[in-house]
Amino acid sequence: MTTSINHWIGGASVPGTGGRTADVTNPATGEVTGQVDLASQDDVQAAVAAATAAFPGWRDTSLTKRTQILFAFRELLNARAPELAAIITSEHGKVLSDAAGEVARGQEVVEFACGMPHLLKGAFTENASTGVDVHSTRQPLGPVAIISPFNFPAMVPMWFFPVAIAAGNTVVLKPSEKVPTAAIWMAQLWKEAGLPDGVFNVLQGDKVAVDGLLTHPDIASASFVGSTPIARYVYETGTAHGKRVQALGGAKNHMVVLPDADLDLAADAAINAGFGSAGERCMAISALVAVGDVADELVAKIHDRATGLVTGDGTRGCDMGPLVTAASQDRVSGYVDAGESAGAKLVVDGRTVQPDADGKGFFVGPTLFDHVTPDMSVYTDEIFGPVLSVLRVDTYDEAVDLINANPYGNGTALFTNDGGAARKFQNEVTVGMIGINVPVPVPMAYFSFGGWKNSLFGDTHAHGTEGVHFFTRGKVVTTRWLDPSHGGINLGFPQNT
Ligand code: NAD
Repeated sequence: MTTSINHWIGGASVPGTGGRTADVTNPATGEVTGQVDLASQDDVQAAVAAATAAFPGWRDTSLTKRTQILFAFRELLNARAPELAAIITSEHGKVLSDAAGEVARGQEVVEFACGMPHLLKGAFTENASTGVDVHSTRQPLGPVAIISPFNFPAMVPMWFFPVAIAAGNTVVLKPSEKVPTAAIWMAQLWKEAGLPDGVFNVLQGDKVAVDGLLTHPDIASASFVGSTPIARYVYETGTAHGKRVQALGGAKNHMVVLPDADLDLAADAAINAGFGSAGERCMAISALVAVGDVADELVAKIHDRATGLVTGDGTRGCDMGPLVTAASQDRVSGYVDAGESAGAKLVVDGRTVQPDADGKGFFVGPTLFDHVTPDMSVYTDEIFGPVLSVLRVDTYDEAVDLINANPYGNGTALFTNDGGAARKFQNEVTVGMIGINVPVPVPMAYFSFGGWKNSLFGDTHAHGTEGVHFFTRGKVVTTRWLDPSHGGINLGFPQNT
């Protein structure tokens, strides 16, 4: 018995009209658990129409009322977070504790957005010119599109929609068709929190839905997160259709270990950042750069830890879950084959893992390569699986050159006890998010999240003040209350007196 997963339009569950659906699977068992609607053009029209109709009323709802609804959403989410975590585990496969962590990090953005009255405060200058006052405001854009990836079914949409909604926009969220249920669950929670119908809509689907949103004249902006080729396409298509776009792409994140680092702490960090969520994180560490003579000892320590990890069904208290689909499993295994053929030393082989799970889940266990070189596909490509590659370099400068030559620039980490080296590193690397002895440096909600180079197309990062800027546009009002002394004709450019 499978469930049917529909759109959420105008405050209600709405079945798709095109007759196209996709299977949704439980990655830990391989079982098909549902069929998700894939939007037709008519479905796109209906979702955008609902968001467009709801916009004037929501834009004009007072900030006090808007934020009261955000606070209500926060309270409901706090009370019911385990339900959402269970949905994430059942469709994505990540272990329950990791899913709960994802919900908590998304909730931080809801809490940030609860402060929207303060964030939207403009500036006022009295008597800028004689008898003339000037003030600035920021106003919402209109109906906005959010297109999210499979790997964070709740957190990534929450990077955007709390800020968008609190600022007075209406939303059409297009979740990944691999993990569609979390978005519907959050839509129901918004309704319970008192959000007017049509302010938050969910359009299920694939490229048809994305293209429909990117080219729709009533959609004001697109916030996208996914792989780099699609991010580039979304940026180019959206901007060509007059939209404001922020498109976050893929990653290849390096962790550099200097000779003075504590190697036990570095090995723990490499395990957590390399194999957490089965490596399906855009901030996962996939390249470990060992500087000087640390490599042999570090690789041995990572080996011992990796072989002790339990891979299996995320509901059973394992360390690591499955990959999201059978196709991902094949793809990741293919990279392990390629790394071996290219001459890298396979220290731990995840292809032979014995998972703690029933059925035919999509498992690849923790995999560790040593002696990887920059020309190998295990280094050049974003594998998006539990594959950690160790590269050996002689100097700090070689490590930084490697990072800066990489086309991605999402996150990076340095492990050292040398403050001077850390300060130099954070200044020199061409990467957006940097951890000093922090392997997964995901910024807090009140800072902004985003990479450099091929990891982000657009000018603004997600949430924090950049997120508020993205979802609003500025106006400056210059005011003079006229009296008879202001009469007279003067065609010159206005000058201040
Ligand atoms: P994906 O690019 O396959 O899909 C992302 C979204 O785009 C989905 O909603 C999908 O339905 C849609 N899509 C897929 N193909 C499309 C097409 N041809 N045209 C238009 N839309 C299309 O990404 P994914 O596999 O779901 O997610 C993993 C990727 O996301 C990884 O590359 C990861 O690094 C990246 N990611 C990046 C960040 C970040 O902050 N930079 C965060 C999370 C994930």
